[in-house]
Amino acid sequence: YQSSSTPVIGITGTNGKSTTTALIAHMLNECGQRVQVGGNLGPAVLDLERAGPGGFYVLELSSYQLELTPSLAPDIGVLLNITPDHLARHGGMDGYVAAKRSLFRKGGRPQTAIIGIDDEPSAAIARALAEEPGFDVVTVSVTGHAATLMLSNNGLIDARDGTAIDLTQFPALPGVHNAQNAAAAYAACRAAGIATSQIVAAMTRFPGLDHRQKLVRSIGGIAYVNDSKATNADAAEKALTCYSDIYWIAGGQAKEGGLNGLEPLMNRIRRAFLIGEAAPAFGEWLQGKAPFEPCGTLDCAVAAAHELAQRESVPGAVVLLSPACASWDQFRSFEHRGEAFAELVNGLQASPETSP
Ligand code: ADP
Repeated sequence: YQSSSTPVIGITGTNGKSTTTALIAHMLNECGQRVQVGGNLGPAVLDLERAGPGGFYVLELSSYQLELTPSLAPDIGVLLNITPDHLARHGGMDGYVAAKRSLFRKGGRPQTAIIGIDDEPSAAIARALAEEPGFDVVTVSVTGHAATLMLSNNGLIDARDGTAIDLTQFPALPGVHNAQNAAAAYAACRAAGIATSQIVAAMTRFPGLDHRQKLVRSIGGIAYVNDSKATNADAAEKALTCYSDIYWIAGGQAKEGGLNGLEPLMNRIRRAFLIGEAAPAFGEWLQGKAPFEPCGTLDCAVAAAHELAQRESVPGAVVLLSPACASWDQFRSFEHRGEAFAELVNGLQASPETSP
């Protein structure tokens, strides 16, 4: 690819790859660029059509794919974050970090390296690349480190020119984790030559990815949000952090550790509606932390959550499917579970207590 005239944007990291890839592709598209998206999301890299002059390849790359494509040297590389994950496959953390590091290989052209520096392995990679010729390093921090792009309150500041971007204008990108994705995508589009005003306008129109804190519908001021992709407590934590009054639909096939780690967020739960195999264990865990009821199935949970949310009518409250569990006990996949939720929500009556 480095010999092709079509620039390649490659995205990797432990979390946020799909969101950031889709966001970059969406923004380039909206700005009139021809874009081919591939990798984990969409067609395999080698099946892509040539993007043609004036276009871009936007590739989501897992560490596994990076190991398999030693000649790939993206013109713009995005490393979002590195947290312990898939360690066995890469022979421990060192192998995993080395795989992520290999996104930044010397190609024939200078490279922009966009790196989230809020974890130490990624920060070390950014420091090392800053010493090497041929790399333009752009750092991103959403936790208060000095960086090219920094999160302050709800704004993103670009230290290069003082540009400030209000993140509250992007409804499909809630939470600090999405601020990291938005900052990296912004930096990638800037490196691709798109003007800031165009980037921001396109970002406000990003619809979000299905099953990742996706707003299905609002009824009577209550948002109904599908976060079916949250198959463990870590992912559910990201969503729970975004809202203060939550009717929480959780459960399925529990992962090791169950809901451990979510204790500090339980004061946001107005009530938990528990489904699937994990319901008894989750109920036990929730004792004394938050009100809950066993519902068995998703349709019962949606009906019960809807009834209570509409009756209490708390401004800004959400009915949130963020199961912290695999779906296999009751569904074919997390997508199937999320689609079932969306269908149930779309079939709800606006005022359950007054409906016949
Ligand atoms: P990936 O493709 O890397 O699996 P996704 O974009 O599909 O990532 O997001 C999956 C889940 O990971 C989201 O629902 C959210 O809970 C979490 N997530 C997304 N972006 C980030 C991020 N930058 N940092 C940490 N967690 C994230």
